[in-house]
Amino acid sequence: MSGLQINEELYNYTLHYSKRRSLAIQVKAGKVIVRAPLTLPKTKITDFLQQKQQWILNKIQSTARLTTPCWLAEKRIPLFETILQLDIQQGRKSSVQQHQDRLIVTISSRVNSERVNLVQQQLIINWYKQQALDWFTIRVQYWQQLLKVQATEIIIGGWSSKWGYCRSDGRLGFNWRLLMAPTWVADYVALHEVCHLRYLNHSSQYWQLVRKHCADIEQAKQWLKDNQHKLVI
Ligand SMILES: [Zn+2]
Repeated sequence: MSGLQINEELYNYTLHYSKRRSLAIQVKAGKVIVRAPLTLPKTKITDFLQQKQQWILNKIQSTARLTTPCWLAEKRIPLFETILQLDIQQGRKSSVQQHQDRLIVTISSRVNSERVNLVQQQLIINWYKQQALDWFTIRVQYWQQLLKVQATEIIIGGWSSKWGYCRSDGRLGFNWRLLMAPTWVADYVALHEVCHLRYLNHSSQYWQLVRKHCADIEQAKQWLKDNQHKLVI
């Protein structure tokens, strides 16, 4: 571990030497990793880090935020524009039920106490996936009627690197985390993928088609960029 001083604060970083040509800084979950070529003197590394300190600080702050999802700890979870109150209880069988603005999660009393948190998270994710399938099915139906296209299947996933996809065989995929975003943002993703059933690319014709039906493309993309770290439980 080596230390890097930024604005009176000392940040530790791990230095890895390897057979590489250039210096690289990586910030993961609030931790700094520096990768350096074998022969590079330490002073060069320190200079480089000093130059990049603002970037490093921003990254530490944004990735640290990314690792602290607080929804479950605060016993509430978002569903589009609503925040549901989370009620956790024990029962005979594990289940999840929504009653207006409450989400009642029942965990089977047979679940080992060490596994309760894990089971609770899995139950909630499964509930989100089911909600996502219902919601995206309706929105895809709406957009495909309007655009005269037809999806073959809707798949819900929890990928960390994409919000949705469209395959050449007509399968559409959507990320359940979009149910934690505002409706207009999730609906932009639905439209985005349905438009790919017409054009399987990001050509100007494609964007023209999306723009014809959605005026907030840029705002929706920006919203996802700015808020993606909050869409985790
Ligand atoms: Zn696309």
